[in-house]
Amino acid sequence: MKLILLGPPGAGKGTQAQQISKRRGLVQLSTGDMLRAATRAGTEIGLKAQALMDKGELVSDEVVVGIIAERIGQPDCKPGFILDGFPRTLQQAAALDRMLDDKGDRMDAVVELRADYNQLVERIVGRYACSKCGEGYHDRFKRPKVRGVCDVCGSTEFTRRADDNAETVTTRMMAYYRETSPLIGYYFCKGILHVVDGMAPIDEVSAAIEGVLAKLP
Ligand code: ADP
Ligand code: AMP
Repeated sequence: MKLILLGPPGAGKGTQAQQISKRRGLVQLSTGDMLRAATRAGTEIGLKAQALMDKGELVSDEVVVGIIAERIGQPDCKPGFILDGFPRTLQQAAALDRMLDDKGDRMDAVVELRADYNQLVERIVGRYACSKCGEGYHDRFKRPKVRGVCDVCGSTEFTRRADDNAETVTTRMMAYYRETSPLIGYYFCKGILHVVDGMAPIDEVSAAIEGVLAKLP
């Protein structure tokens, strides 16, 4: 199954992608995570991307399309994958279609996590993740079962993203509404858009997504 999770920053794409990945054994492909890994590795792409990411602006289509094209060709993506944070522009969506079309393939579903802008800032500024396994948490909405210990791997080290601050949130939201939200119409017209309430509690969102996936042909 090939699935896209669509929604503004903080809508819950990463959280839900991690859960679907665990439930269904599909690879989670987050362009944000890949760009942050490139930044940490100090590659040319990573260093160029970092300046844009720190400001909350989008990285060029060419760079992210290149990263995804290379990644979905790898064997672990054969059974399917979950795209989280890609595509983010109509150009990226068209490039993805071409990539899959060349292999006689296509996306199965797009799940839009519909979100209330006013509540997203709190989600973003309270977000953190396990430094070792990447499991996502929130200061208020998703705390580890044992304080300071990752539920998944037991690590006691956590990190916060440099761009998760109130200053960049507005720029990131503007990028979403200007560049990414037109994809809702794009996928609606293709007949593969499914809308889920992203403001419900995490488990309810997961159940709603499972309901959508269970009905796919
Ligand atoms: P995105 O990948 O769309 O930017 P995340 O999945 O990282 O968003 O979620 C942002 C923050 O909000 C995280 O700290 C996460 O734990 C929390 N979160 C995700 N989904 C929900 C939800 N349904 N209710 C409350 N908090 C949530
Ligand atoms: P995310 O982890 O999805 O919130 O993305 C963090 C940042 O990485 C974004 O604010 C962008 O600067 C960059 N980024 C991630 N994915 C893309 C994409 N598909 N297109 C352009 N920029 C991206």
